[in-house]
Amino acid sequence: MVIPVADLTIPRVLPNQIAGEDCLAADGQTVSKKSPHDGSEICQVARSKASDIARAIAAAKAAQPAWAALTVVRRGEILRATAQLMQQHRQALAAIVALETGKSLKDALGETDAAIEMGFFVAGEGRRFYGRTTTSAVADRQAMTVRQPIGVAGLIIAANTPIANVAWKAFPALLCGNGAVMKPSEDTPITAWACALLLREAGLPAGVYSNVNGFGDEAGAPLVESADVDVVSFTGSTGVGRWIAATCGRRLAKVCLELGGKNPFIVCDDADLDKAVTFALASAFSNAGQRCASGSRLLVFDAVYDEFKHRLVDAAKKLAIGPGDADYYGAVINEKQLNNMLEAINAARNAGATIVSGGTRLDDPAHRNGYYLAPTIIENASRTAEITANELFGPITCLYRVQGFEDALAFADASPFGLTSAIHTRYVNRAMTFLQRIKAGVASVNGGTFGSEPHLPFGGLRQSGTGWREAGTEALDVYSEWKTVYINYNPQGV
Ligand code: NAD
Repeated sequence: MVIPVADLTIPRVLPNQIAGEDCLAADGQTVSKKSPHDGSEICQVARSKASDIARAIAAAKAAQPAWAALTVVRRGEILRATAQLMQQHRQALAAIVALETGKSLKDALGETDAAIEMGFFVAGEGRRFYGRTTTSAVADRQAMTVRQPIGVAGLIIAANTPIANVAWKAFPALLCGNGAVMKPSEDTPITAWACALLLREAGLPAGVYSNVNGFGDEAGAPLVESADVDVVSFTGSTGVGRWIAATCGRRLAKVCLELGGKNPFIVCDDADLDKAVTFALASAFSNAGQRCASGSRLLVFDAVYDEFKHRLVDAAKKLAIGPGDADYYGAVINEKQLNNMLEAINAARNAGATIVSGGTRLDDPAHRNGYYLAPTIIENASRTAEITANELFGPITCLYRVQGFEDALAFADASPFGLTSAIHTRYVNRAMTFLQRIKAGVASVNGGTFGSEPHLPFGGLRQSGTGWREAGTEALDVYSEWKTVYINYNPQGV
């Protein structure tokens, strides 16, 4: 098979991709996409509204039956060809991710590889796509379950890991035989545009997948509200997720929400402190803390608190911040988010917390035009303070002194969220008890609060989601419905 070479040169005006064609928003409006690193304009982007979304939904609805009529193996082949194209364009894709997020090329390459791996994993599911065959209480009857497509999937994603976010939704939604409309984050439109281009080049029939840019209230909301969208899959903030759940609830549409976290990272008195510091730094600050799975609450046993704090602060102060591969993290995604973080830090200070490291915007010549926040460590925030409860989605973490295992576990669970968690201990008793009792979708021993693998499910409890899981074969449950099949036969009639 000859794979054509896509041109991933960023156009001056980034179009929508609807029904297999590039097009501007119907009213011609555009919005500026700025570099988080220096605030300069990268391109203009189509600013879509309800009528643009409606066109994409109609195209998906029209194209879906023929797509679903292909074998799932064939659909998997087209997705595999997409993953191969992504591999071929790995450098160009990662350069786009780095440019529009402000993260380093090294980090962007890692994220791109993870997205490619997800493509291969999901494509392979086309050869499995298991249901169950089982017994029946009725003689001469075969009973089984088979997956069915749902119809049109509305996909809405956040900006933090843009290529992974596209891959986690687009691949399983399409494998299951749905039409899909992607509304990427207004902060990372270019990655999603490039992915849509490669899906098209890989042979995805026109209309099956559209990519429509714009703001959440203008382009995202109509996708959620449309009666022709059968499943909505959303990754973003809990506030928006709550509105989406209510809106889908009114029309009883299936909805998968992957929302925020305020993830506990417990350091016991028997922990390997060097390892704990390394993982705490990565959990709190990698990707500029813009992870639903960031380690934003560090719960440290009293006996090792001072030593751990000393080592952590020391290490944080040495971190290089910037867009290069030698830097620990880059800019945050936009100026508004940066200002929200600075406000939250100020409010914490006013409420009695102490800023032990960072807390300020970097304003030296190399950083001042970008959206850079120093690695920020806070202590003495009360357990009921706003900063303890609210996700900040930036390079900010809080230290808390805990009196022992039970206190740590109780405080870890005293959160509106329940996404990820970690404990550092050498005692198997503590590790196993933690794994059994922590209320979280992901629990890690002697590791970070973040990280995922394509074949394992990811998602959270309480205000972190609605119980569905992304990645793994569990993602297929979001985008398909089970059909129970009974076949009655007559052995006398052979
Ligand atoms: P956000 O909720 O502001 O935006 C996310 C997406 O929703 C964007 O595409 C936005 O345009 C769209 N949107 C906003 N308002 C909308 C509306 N009314 N209707 C439809 N769409 C709308 O979130 P953000 O600040 O961009 O992202 C950060 C959040 O995402 C954090 O809370 C983070 O924890 C969460 N997140 C969760 C996971 C996970 O897997 N659980 C992964 C990554 C990020």
